[in-house]
Amino acid sequence: MAQIFDSVFEAQQRHKYTLRNTNAAQRIQKLKSLKAAIEKNEPHIYDALQSDLRKSQFEAAVTEVIFIYGEIDFAIKNLGKWMKPKHAGKSMVSLMAKNRIYYEPKGVCLIISPWNYPFQLMMSPLLSAIAAGNCAILKPSELSPATSNIIGKIIKECFDEQEICCFEGDVSVSTALLKLPFDHIFFTGSPAIGRIVMEAAAKNLTSVTLELGGKSPTIIDQEANLKNAAEKIAWGKLVNAGQTCIAPDYVLIPENRQEEFIREYNIATQRMFFKNPQEINEDIYAKIINHKHFKRIIALIDDASAKGAKVSLGGQYQEEVQTINPTVLTKLPANANIMEEEIFGPVLPLITYNLLDEAIEIVNSKSKPLALYIFSDNGKNTHHIIKNTSAGGTCINDVLIHISNPKLPFGGVNSSGMGSCHGIFGFKTFSHERSVVFQSAMNMSSMIYPPYDGKSWILKLLKKIM
Ligand code: NAD
Repeated sequence: MAQIFDSVFEAQQRHKYTLRNTNAAQRIQKLKSLKAAIEKNEPHIYDALQSDLRKSQFEAAVTEVIFIYGEIDFAIKNLGKWMKPKHAGKSMVSLMAKNRIYYEPKGVCLIISPWNYPFQLMMSPLLSAIAAGNCAILKPSELSPATSNIIGKIIKECFDEQEICCFEGDVSVSTALLKLPFDHIFFTGSPAIGRIVMEAAAKNLTSVTLELGGKSPTIIDQEANLKNAAEKIAWGKLVNAGQTCIAPDYVLIPENRQEEFIREYNIATQRMFFKNPQEINEDIYAKIINHKHFKRIIALIDDASAKGAKVSLGGQYQEEVQTINPTVLTKLPANANIMEEEIFGPVLPLITYNLLDEAIEIVNSKSKPLALYIFSDNGKNTHHIIKNTSAGGTCINDVLIHISNPKLPFGGVNSSGMGSCHGIFGFKTFSHERSVVFQSAMNMSSMIYPPYDGKSWILKLLKKIM
């Protein structure tokens, strides 16, 4: 197995020099053929997502496929502009020179992706890598095998393996690939595996982009519209059955508003995800990816209950179809495991607070989240929260939607990730920003060359103008 990886890697190392010289039109052609192959395989992608996660076609179209079409089209429209070397200002010694920033491809990149949005989370970094002129080796998740398989098929249809190659398989495949001296690694997954990836990359001094996860909090303030908040949180929490990296993980809410929020959350979940008050609608409500994760989530509910938490909504589950009903937990003790790890399931803990600063303190007592949501109509509260917390991204009076705008960078901070993707940010992630100075015949640098006698005036001048 390792031999195949080595030979493809070496072929890509040779081919990267050809790709470095591709222009915008050639790269756009590659993006167009990728889009055409996705369009051709669209029904198979929906079948795969149904098989891996029981995703409805509508949800899969919106969150996985159309999302990628949008990103490809955006890259096609803007690539010429992104690739153009940018003018930079001058410094004293390059006053007469032309100063430019060139975007050169990183080279041969490794992209490792997770199972929760298995199509989108492989295709999104890939299209940025292609736009930036790279070769890439892809390793999709073994936990979503049907989607990984269709990704492999699409890649084979569009690309020679010396340019893009997909290796399906489990951890052993990632482990073997991570030994190779890639020019860049783009990893999407858990913080725990992110550490392993970064450690492996350090051995080769390979640059990394880590798109990780964690607990993304939602703060609801005293004046927020609860019907609006409950509906949006219900959608953000329950789309893909809570298996979304930026899903609202837990909610911080004023004590006196909790009961009303639960009522509104119940109404919203019933309207969106139930056939009748007792029966969840499996046609549109995804399943938990596998038995191990199903048991992990049930164990989180059981642990919290055993330590005194109350199941205020839901709690029912159907093990044979790996389905957990929308659940709300209240009265959580500080030592509940569910407040320590990312839930990644349809369970919403509510933590009450009295003063807004108490909520901020709880957020800041945990690792920096990938997303932080605020429900408030009070600008002062909103800015107070933004200024006193850190997060990869934030929405005010909504959830998740920041990920859908390619004009915004998407990424985490510290334990929720480093680097960013989408639009120009993805293009830059897969590019090296190279400083290039074209010196003029009339250059000023020589004034700082030795000998230094009689040049103290230059130091004075430099102190003033630099
Ligand atoms: P994971 O970290 O378990 O796996 C991700 C990928 O890493 C998979 O392809 C897997 O095969 C590979 N992998 C697993 N163990 C490895 C090892 N020891 N060495 C090298 N590679 C290994 O994550 P997951 O369970 O697939 O996905 C869920 C996590 O991903 C959550 O934490 C979620 O928040 C995060 N996530 C983040 C984003 C984002 O954009 N920031 C998006 C989706 C998911």
